[in-house]
Amino acid sequence: MGSNEQAMVDVTVGVLALQGAFNEHVQLLRQAARILVKKDIVERNWTFKEVRNEAELDSCDALIIPGGESTAISLVAQRSNMLEPLRDFVKVLRKPTWGTCAGLILLAESANRTKKGGQELIGGLDIRVNRNHFGRQIESFEASLDLPFLQHADGKGFDTSRLLFRAIFIRAPVVEKLLPNVAGIQEGEAKVEDTVIAPSRVMDEAVAKKIKLADVEIMAALPGRTATFKNTEMNLDPEAGDIIAVRQANVFGTSFHPELTGDPRIHVWWLEQVLKAVDERAR
Ligand code: GLN
Repeated sequence: MGSNEQAMVDVTVGVLALQGAFNEHVQLLRQAARILVKKDIVERNWTFKEVRNEAELDSCDALIIPGGESTAISLVAQRSNMLEPLRDFVKVLRKPTWGTCAGLILLAESANRTKKGGQELIGGLDIRVNRNHFGRQIESFEASLDLPFLQHADGKGFDTSRLLFRAIFIRAPVVEKLLPNVAGIQEGEAKVEDTVIAPSRVMDEAVAKKIKLADVEIMAALPGRTATFKNTEMNLDPEAGDIIAVRQANVFGTSFHPELTGDPRIHVWWLEQVLKAVDERAR
């Protein structure tokens, strides 16, 4: 090995495979890793795997929770004793986690239009989501999005960052409220009608030294707000549009399904964030 070569670093990324579009994510992750290899200075030994139990989750450095049906995913997670390991992964160990559509709902601290007892949340994002915001399956739609965070791609080998991203919305949620990043936000949320909340968890002490829990960052919005309901608590700029992508520390969420379009750019971007987190933790 030459003096300027570094040792191979193992990175394992899981896709929760209890229900929904997990296979599509695995395919796109493989494609994204091939693109990243051309850019990365450190050699990585990537493993992408479907995750169905605690042992498989434990072996992961990062996780994707796919689109599907959040009530079904949460039910299967509960039956297979995965809810608590998932909460540990996201909120105690604070490992990088990305939820798409149903995955975003599961990663919210609070979710609307949900029967009490009908849905368990993992949490991790201080947001309230409104489920099925745009209506039923037949009201699914596509939109071409300008995703500012993709424009930071350095262009080496994949300078397609300026192209719009074709996004598919299927019974998609939106982020209807950003919640303050303080302890006990769930109490107030629990009083909101038809809303379920995630149980709070305390971050691991060693992890807390490395990760700062910042406020939720809005990563993308649809132009123009489509909400027809009145929500006096919603203190967001009405001109800002429907929020469809957010990030808070280790957790990223999108309302739409990048796994269904075959465009790997968001996967490339997210794997770069995963690498930063993995390198930071190894320090
Ligand atoms: N509406 C679904 C839910 O509540 C999410 C739809 C999706 O993931 N495409 O879980």
